[in-house]
Parts: sequence; C-alpha cells; structure tokens
Amino acid sequence: MNAEIIAVGSELLLGQIQNSNATYLSEQLSSVGINVFHHVVVGDNPDRLSNVVKSGLDRSDLIIFTGGLGPTKDDLTKETVADVTGKELVYDSETEKKIESYYVQRGQTMTDNNRKQAMVLKGAKILPNDQGMACGMVIWHEKKLMIMLPGPPSELIPMFKNYVMPFLKEELTFHEEIQSKVLRFFDIGESQLVEKVDDLIEQQTNPTIAPLASAGEITLRLTVKGADKKDNRKHLDQLKEKILDRVGAFYYGEGEDQLAEILFQQLQARNLTISAAESLTGGLFSTILTEQSGVSKVFTGAIICYSDAVKQSELAIPQDLLQTEGAISSACAKQMAINVKENLNSDVGISFTGVAGPESLEGKNPGIVYIGIATKNNVVTHQLQLAGSREMIRERSVKYGLYYLIQCLRKEKEKVDEKK
Ligand code: ATP
Repeated sequence: MNAEIIAVGSELLLGQIQNSNATYLSEQLSSVGINVFHHVVVGDNPDRLSNVVKSGLDRSDLIIFTGGLGPTKDDLTKETVADVTGKELVYDSETEKKIESYYVQRGQTMTDNNRKQAMVLKGAKILPNDQGMACGMVIWHEKKLMIMLPGPPSELIPMFKNYVMPFLKEELTFHEEIQSKVLRFFDIGESQLVEKVDDLIEQQTNPTIAPLASAGEITLRLTVKGADKKDNRKHLDQLKEKILDRVGAFYYGEGEDQLAEILFQQLQARNLTISAAESLTGGLFSTILTEQSGVSKVFTGAIICYSDAVKQSELAIPQDLLQTEGAISSACAKQMAINVKENLNSDVGISFTGVAGPESLEGKNPGIVYIGIATKNNVVTHQLQLAGSREMIRERSVKYGLYYLIQCLRKEKEKVDEKK
C-alpha cells in the first residue's frame, strides 16, 4: 500500500507553521509497513486543492488529508473531496449534537458556520474528535482509501492513535500482525552506523530496517509482518542480535523512551539518587531530568556553579586545584562530581564543565567539555571536543552526560549480577 499525505492550509505555504502533521503521520505509517511516497502541501484554494486530490487518487492507494475541516469558508477539504469524487455531503446527527451541546454549555448559540462542521461525506466512517469540534472521516473511493483529519496536532494525534491506527491495522493488514522494535544509539554518526549494518539494510524485506537520526540520537526501527506473533518476535530478536553484534557498543535502549527517560528508569529500578554540579550547562541537565514526572524520588538537587567563587564556596573545590588545573579540566570535573554527590547526599554525582563558546576560556577552545561521574565505588571523567553553536554544545553535553550515566550504571549492574 502506497500512501500520500496532503496537508491543507495556506499558513503552511507562508512558512507560519511547520508541517509537523506530515512528519508524525509518516513515522506512524512506516511503523506499520505502509510506504509514504508523497508529502503535498496545498493552500486553501479550491482549484489547486481539487488538482491535488485528483493526482493523489491517480497515484496513491491511501491519501491522508490534514486540516481544512473547520467551520470557516476557507476550510475546503471535505467539500473538495466531495466535488472530485461525486459524493454527497450530509449532516451527521451525532456530530451535530456534540457541537450543539458544546455551545449550550457555554450559553452560546450555534451558528450556521458551526453547523458546517457536522457535515460529513455520505458513507464515510466517522472518526470522533475527543479534543475538538471537527470530526475526521474515512471513505473508500474506487479502491482508494481517503482519510480526513483535523489540522491541530492536539486533535490529529489522539484521533490517529485511537481511531485511525486500529482501523488501518484491522482493514489493511489482512490479519497479518505488524510488530516493530526501536533500537536506540548514541555517540555514533548516522552514516557510520548505517555503514556497519548496510548489508542488513540492503537485504531487508521482512523485517525491514529504517534508520532515523535526530539531535545526535540514532534509532533503527525494525518492522516485521506475519501471521504468527511468536514467529515475528523471533525474527525481530534475531535481527536485533545481529545488529548489536556490530554496533552494540553504542546501544543504550529499546523503545520510544529517550536518554533522560531511560536514565530515570534505571535510577528508579536500582533505588539510586543523583545530583548534579553544573557549570557549562547552567542547569540544563537538571531541567531535562526534572521533565520526568516522579523524578523527586531519584533527583536530590543541583548546584549551578558558574564562577570559580561559587565552585569554591558551594562545592568546596580547592583553590589550588582551580589555580593549577583550571576550572575547565578533568581534575575539576572529577572533584565537582565527588563533592556534589557528598554535599547533596546522593548515590551518584555528575558534573559538567567546559567552554560553550563562542570565545575561548582559560586558553581552551570552544567545544571542550569535561563530564565527571562519581558513584559509590568509582569516579570517571570523560573529555569531549564538540562542534556547533553555543546552544548545541550545551545540549549535546547534557545528552552525553545522560548517555555516560546510562552506560556507567549498566556496567555496574552487570558487575553486580556477575558476582551473584
Ligand atoms: P480547526 O477548525 O479545528 O482549527 P482544521 O481542520 O480546519 O481544524 P486548519 O484550520 O487547517 O485545521 O488548521 C488549524 C491549525 O492547526 C493551524 O492553524 C495550525 O496551528 C495547525 N495545523 C494545521 N495543519 C498543520 C500541519 N500540517 N502540521 C502542523 N500543524 C498544523
């Protein structure tokens, strides 16, 4: 099945908003083995929209529309689809009741505009909108499937998850199971990783391997189709094993969870607490970690020690260390990690010191970063030379910190398990 996504809205063409719906939908469709061959963006213009619908019907088996389902005159998606396919628009009483009660609850009168949102294509399966007014629709037209979804991502995403995905799985897979596994990697470039598994990607038919890189993290999504769930799982596990034999050193986890979530889960599972001494990152590590709900169980706190004076007064970093080695040094990172762990009474301490740039500092070039990690039995430091803007260097430092922590805790756990 070949799919196409048509995003409707002049604001997309004017560059006022990004077409994040297409990104989301493509990712979701590829996860169930549906190929997306075209992304189209079209303004709120009936002729151009009509042409786009026609070419979509010519070349794709599945067309997903996003946007243009609202109450105003320039919302034209269902009207144009009706026009091109010769289908009728009719009132859907359920949707009309829902819109009416929305206005009654607010003491307002429903206008004809609003009533327009209750119009649906005759014969369409209605997708309820649990977050807004415009319902979605699924309709077949000459063996082609069209799905219309509202523009706001806050409405589109739950509608897709709750109604479209179950429908697609039921209708289109002919009762084949589609299962995926997402493998997550860090500290390796996308091209390096792909090179190492290139032959596996080349051979792929079932399972397939789809690499994706975003902000320094690389994922490989393995997707398998087949009637037998157990068999599918076996194929995915075998492929995972083959991949990890080659690039296991850079692997940090499986699934949708990113670095901070995985670290949080590890700390929680092992009943460990953490604290941070942040110079270079100025609180960014703590901000990202505290985005996890329930993090108070594992995070005792942080000391933001930007100046040497604060490194001395709040973290007791010896003056002679600052003078001989400098604040931007492995020795300082090490002492910061040890001292923050002690001062803030945690099981693990992490520290960040370095030069975010653009100017050099203490004779050190922008991008030099030292990360210290102190645990009960061990202290390690990592030195990095990162490239990019000030913002990128700080963000990537935090990611490296999270990644090193994950690897460090994993190794410690393996040692403990071995002893057992
Ligand atoms: P509603 O009437 O509920 O606003 P709609 O289906 O008519 O929904 P539009 O009017 O086309 O949708 O878009 C509403 C808003 O949704 C836009 O202003 C924009 O914020 C967001 N939006 C629309 N299309 C996209 C897209 N492709 N990607 C991301 N956001 C989008």
